[in-house]
Amino acid sequence: TQKLPFEALSVETLPARLGANEAVTAQIGKDARRWKVREVGDGNLNLVFIVEGAEGAVVVKQALPYVRLVGDSWPLPLKRSFFEYHALTRQERRAPGSVPSIHHFDEAQALIVMEYLAPPHIILRRALIEGRQLPNIARDIGLFMARTLFRGSDLHMPTKDRKADLALFADNVELCGITEDLVFTDPYFDAKLNRHTSPQLDGLVAELRADRDLKVEAQRLKHLFAANAETLLHGDLHSGSIMVTDTETRMIDPEFAFYGPIAFDVGMLLANFWMSFFSQRGHEQTEKRDAMRAYLLGVTAETWAVFRAEFSHLWRTERTGMLYHRSLFEDQGDRLGAEQALDHMLHSIWTDLLGFAGIEVHRRILGLAHNADFEAIADENLRATCEAKALKFGRHIAVNRRQIHGIDEVNNLAARIEQES
Ligand code: ADP
Ligand code: MG
Ligand code: MG
Ligand code: MG
Repeated sequence: TQKLPFEALSVETLPARLGANEAVTAQIGKDARRWKVREVGDGNLNLVFIVEGAEGAVVVKQALPYVRLVGDSWPLPLKRSFFEYHALTRQERRAPGSVPSIHHFDEAQALIVMEYLAPPHIILRRALIEGRQLPNIARDIGLFMARTLFRGSDLHMPTKDRKADLALFADNVELCGITEDLVFTDPYFDAKLNRHTSPQLDGLVAELRADRDLKVEAQRLKHLFAANAETLLHGDLHSGSIMVTDTETRMIDPEFAFYGPIAFDVGMLLANFWMSFFSQRGHEQTEKRDAMRAYLLGVTAETWAVFRAEFSHLWRTERTGMLYHRSLFEDQGDRLGAEQALDHMLHSIWTDLLGFAGIEVHRRILGLAHNADFEAIADENLRATCEAKALKFGRHIAVNRRQIHGIDEVNNLAARIEQES
């Protein structure tokens, strides 16, 4: 069959366009005229359709040639769908069961047909705003990060394969550019698309933009992000990219996948738990949320502990790449040498993740892409109070990251700042 040029799907055209697609009909049945189609994309970039047929349902995600949030004044390549597809296949291999199953990929139409994560699946961010305590997220996400980040690096992969992957994902230039600008740069000057709760935060925003230590640190982190092509990142691992039930956790939406530092995914993820923590005050009109706050700090501690334990386990059992080769250590009877190197690596992941977490907090309050944790707080004074505490916390952990020695220290700081009036 001849390749048709790209055309955006719509609720109306989808059945006709995908009605003969065997990957789709195998999942949901052939009677396309009776398919029920809904567009549910709540993200910033793409179209997401739920398609229900007589025998089941699938999700069809399609990229658009521009940023959905902004419109066609901001073009963005369709190729992000290609990177999302390839990232999903690698994540499934490296951390089986952690992502939706993929049924079909059409590069020209920039669309991925995947497993529908049906209710009671809910976006993690939503669940946390509702005050729900999910019992498994720390373990599931900690394992996902350790497995994908370790197994996508030169600690594990044959270096030829890793270099081929590095080259493949190096082309994800524009999405990487979004991170480079939106996360590391725009929050710290008067960038055009920035917004913040105003006038309540105006003073603090001016202070942060004049904060030399903070700006230097943000640029050191940007340099690290851009230059340390250590492993295949998810690249957008926030609580809006995770779907959960009480027993299940799935990561979605890795279109920002790129080779970068291990600490980036971990820091971004933990930042989202800390932001949820600081936003709880804005959601507790109906009930006190002390238990939720304690839960969230517990989740950060457990996620980091699970990550460390699994990363260490993989270091001891799957260190098959060219780095820290066994011939230098275990094969000479020197087990401690490998443990010493592991300690160093975990220490630098820790130090860097605090930096990435701190600036992730800032960009979600000062930049273009805000998150619902704070946005859903209708009372602007209350929202600004929550945001101001989070900004202060973010500044502290980014600038002082080399002097902070454990997750309890960070969580104690968060609790102390949260208590301030
Ligand atoms: P974007 O890249 O535009 O952010 P996402 O992949 O994050 O798109 O999807 C947007 C929304 O669509 C998600 O927040 C979720 O509600 C829904 N969604 C995406 N993938 C699935 C899926 N596999 N199953 C169920 N819902 C999904
Ligand atoms: Mg998304
Ligand atoms: Mg996305
Ligand atoms: Mg130190």
